Formats: sequence, structure tokens, C-alpha cells
Amino acid sequence: MTIDQKTAIKRSLEAKLGDILAVKPEEAVAETCPDENEYASRLSEQSLNVALREREARAVREIREALARIDSPEFGVCDECGEEIGLNRLLARPTAVLCVRCQAETEKGMAFAM
Ligand SMILES: [Zn+2]
Repeated sequence: MTIDQKTAIKRSLEAKLGDILAVKPEEAVAETCPDENEYASRLSEQSLNVALREREARAVREIREALARIDSPEFGVCDECGEEIGLNRLLARPTAVLCVRCQAETEKGMAFAM
């Protein structure tokens, strides 16, 4: 992997991180809402937001880990088998820690567990 390619991946990670962090947190559901139905729908909306925020928090963590790893020799190497993850895959998914093959194996294993 060349320095330029690494820089491109780094930029895309930083851009993604910026996008996620730019999203303003929603206002909390008002404690006193005059309409009960309105209150219920706001509550369910809020739990959707919580799920979304958890996903974002995980994405932020993955991006930060990738940024911390990017200058080390382990970056771009599969966690599972030690093979190169591959530039195209890293460009498409810079937070990937597994090569396509190991990722497929892991997903197959998870589907089997369910
Ligand atoms: Zn692998």
C-alpha cells in the first residue's frame, strides 16, 4: 500500500467521523406532554434514536480504531488469517479488520448460530 493510498483511506475515515459527529443530538422528549398519543409516539421515536445513536457510537469507535491503526504495519492485514485485506476492500470499507474470505466465514458462522 502506498502512502497516497493510505492518505486517501485516512481522509475518508476522517470525513466519515466528521459526518457522524456533526449530527446534533435530538432534544429529549418533554416530560409533560399534553397529548398521550403524541407522548407515546415521541417515546417510540426516541427509542429509535437510541438504537441509531448506539450504531453511530459503534461506528465512531471503529473509525477511531482504524485511524489509530492506519500508520502501523498491522493496518490492512486480516485479524483472522494475517493475509492482506486488499486495497479495494479497504477503500470501500476502511474500518474492515477481516479479509473478504474471513468476513464471509464469520457471517456464515453467525447465521448458523441464529
Ligand atoms: Zn482473513
